[in-house]
Amino acid sequence: MSGEDFHVVIVGGGLGGLCLAQGLKQAGIRFSVYERDRSATSRPQGYRIHIDPQGSRALHQVLPEPLWRIFTATGGQFSQGFTVMTEGMQELLSLRAADAGKMDPVAQHRSISRVHLRRVLLAGLEDAVHFDRRFLRYEESSEGKLTVFFEDGSRVEADVLVAADGIHSRVRRQYLPGADPVETGVVGIGGRIPLEDGLLQRLPQQALEGPIMVLPPTACSLFLALWKPVAEARQHLELLGGELPLDEEPYLIFSLGGRAEFFGFAPGELPTDAELLRGAMREAMRGWHPELRALADRIDPAEFGVFPVRTSRPVPAWKSSPVTLLGDAIHSMTPYRGIGGNIALKDGALLAAQLAEARAGRCTLLEAVAGYEAQMRRYAFAAVADSRKAMEGANGRKHPVLFPMARVAMRSANAVLHWRRRKAG
Ligand SMILES: Cc1cc2nc3c(=O)[nH]c(=O)nc-3n(C[C@H](O)[C@H](O)[C@H](O)COP(=O)(O)OP(=O)(O)OC[C@H]3O[C@@H](n4cnc5c(N)ncnc54)[C@H](O)[C@@H]3O)c2cc1C
Repeated sequence: MSGEDFHVVIVGGGLGGLCLAQGLKQAGIRFSVYERDRSATSRPQGYRIHIDPQGSRALHQVLPEPLWRIFTATGGQFSQGFTVMTEGMQELLSLRAADAGKMDPVAQHRSISRVHLRRVLLAGLEDAVHFDRRFLRYEESSEGKLTVFFEDGSRVEADVLVAADGIHSRVRRQYLPGADPVETGVVGIGGRIPLEDGLLQRLPQQALEGPIMVLPPTACSLFLALWKPVAEARQHLELLGGELPLDEEPYLIFSLGGRAEFFGFAPGELPTDAELLRGAMREAMRGWHPELRALADRIDPAEFGVFPVRTSRPVPAWKSSPVTLLGDAIHSMTPYRGIGGNIALKDGALLAAQLAEARAGRCTLLEAVAGYEAQMRRYAFAAVADSRKAMEGANGRKHPVLFPMARVAMRSANAVLHWRRRKAG
C-alpha cells in the first residue's frame, strides 16, 4: 500500500498512544486516537512519573521543538539520583545520574507530573483525539481492511489498528487471547503527603536528589519520592492554552510494598478502609526510624490507597498483521524499576518511525509492523523481567545471612562512589 492513503487508528490516549500520535503527526501520517475518558480532564492522571533516558529520547524524537522545550522546562525537581537506605535511615547506596559520565542534554532522568506530561502530549492533537469513545471490537476483511467498533455504536475504518489501551486492553483480548497480565501477589499501600509543616526539613537529605528505596530485613520495602514543580512551569504550560489543570503543590509519594499476606490481607480481597490500611502499615514498620513511621500518619485518608502489582508473561512471537500493540496493553510490568511508561514511550516513537518508513515507500505496512514488533518484544520483555526481579529483591523474604552481606556490599560500593565524587570535585 502506498504511504499516502493509510489511516492509523490508535485505541487509548495514554502515554504510549499519544507519543505514537505525536510521531505520526511529525511524519505526516493520517491517524485518529480514540480514548474512553470523557475529556482530557475527566480523570486524575496520578502522581509524578520518572522519565528515564530512553523515555526522554523517545519524546525528543516525536515532539516538535517548541513542545520538547516545554517538556524539558517543566520536569519537576529531585531527579538526579536514587538512594537505597536502611529502615534506620542509614544510607546503603546512593547512585547519581552524573556518575554514569557526561550528562546528555536529551537522554536524562526527569521527574514530571503526569498532568503536565499529558498536557504536552495532547498539544496540537486536538482535532485527532476523540474522547468518550470506548473501543468494543474490530473486524478484519479478507483484504486486510479493518473496521473498529465503539460502545456508542459508532465505527471507523482503519489500515492499522494500534492497541494502546493499557493493562486491561480489550484489543489485546481479541487479538492475542491468553496474553493477559498476571497478579504478582504483591501490593502497594500508600498515598501522597503534602509538603507542609516543615516536612521537607525532616526528610533525609538524599530525598532532595531523587527517590529513596528503604530496604528493611523484613519482606517489604518503602518507596519515597518528592515532587516539586519548577518555578516557571506555569508560564511554559500556559503557552499551550487549553483547560488542563496544573500540578502546583509539592508532595511526597509514600508507597509501602509487600505480599498481601505479609500485611495480613487475603490475596484478591484487598481492604479499602484507610485506617485499616494505615494499621497494617504501622505494624509492618514497627521498629523503623521514627521519622519514617511518622510519615505513615501524615497521609490524608482521602489519599490512601492500595493497588495490586501486576506483570505480564513473555508472549511468543505472533504472525504480524495490521493490528499491533504497545505499552501496557502488551507488556505490563511492575513499577519497581519505574520504566513501564518509558517503554510505552519508546514503543510509540519506534512504531511511528517504522510507519514513516512505510509512508516513504521503503517497506510495506506489514513489514513496518513486523519490524517494530520484533524489536519491541526483545527490549520490552527484558524490561518486564527486570522489573519483576527488582520487585522480588525488594519484597521477597530476605535471607538471614545473604541480606546482611548484600548490605555490606552496597555500603562498600557506596564508599567507592563517594570517594570518586570527592575526587572529581
Ligand atoms: C504506582 C505506579 C507507578 C509508576 N511509576 C512509573 C514511573 O515512574 N515511570 C514509568 O516509566 N512508569 C511508571 N509506571 C508505569 C506506567 O504508568 C505505565 O507503564 C504507563 O502508563 C503505560 O502507558 P500506556 O500508554 O501503555 O497505558 P496507559 O497510560 O494506561 O493508557 C491507556 C489509555 O487507554 C484508555 N483506554 C482503556 N481502555 C479503553 C477502551 N476500551 N477504549 C478507549 N480507550 C481505552 C485509558 O483510558 C488510558 O487513557 C507506574 C505504574 C504504577 C502502577
